[in-house]
Amino acid sequence: MADCLFCSIAAGDIPSDQVRSGERTYAFRDIAPVAPTHVLVVPRQHYRNAAELSREDPGLLAELVAEATSIADEAGLAGGYRLVFNTGQEGGQTVDHVHVHVLGGRTMTWPPG
Ligand code: 5GP
Ligand code: ZN
Repeated sequence: MADCLFCSIAAGDIPSDQVRSGERTYAFRDIAPVAPTHVLVVPRQHYRNAAELSREDPGLLAELVAEATSIADEAGLAGGYRLVFNTGQEGGQTVDHVHVHVLGGRTMTWPPG
């Protein structure tokens, strides 16, 4: 989609710190990490959020989560980690291209902010 930051990053038009590159997914380090490991995994195709992706291509949503767990394994997060889909304005979503945050390397707290 034109003018979408994560479409441009996945296409390589905007540079990013790549973690994994798949046929249908792309993973890169968050520009403002909130944990020692903070990676974003996105589909190359544009979907607005997790709800839209789960309706339109549940298999791709599963791929996104599988990529995220592989990243956690590769980062050595055996003690645990957090996967987050911020969804919509009140959910804290600031980029309207679905992405899962992989957060780890420190102890997470609950409830989130
Ligand atoms: P959200 O708030 O939508 O769940 O997450 C968006 C994330 O994208 C934020 O954690 C933010 O730091 C990250 N982000 C925003 N712009 C860029 C960028 O240009 N490059 C990278 N690597 N991350 C970005
Ligand atoms: Zn997009």
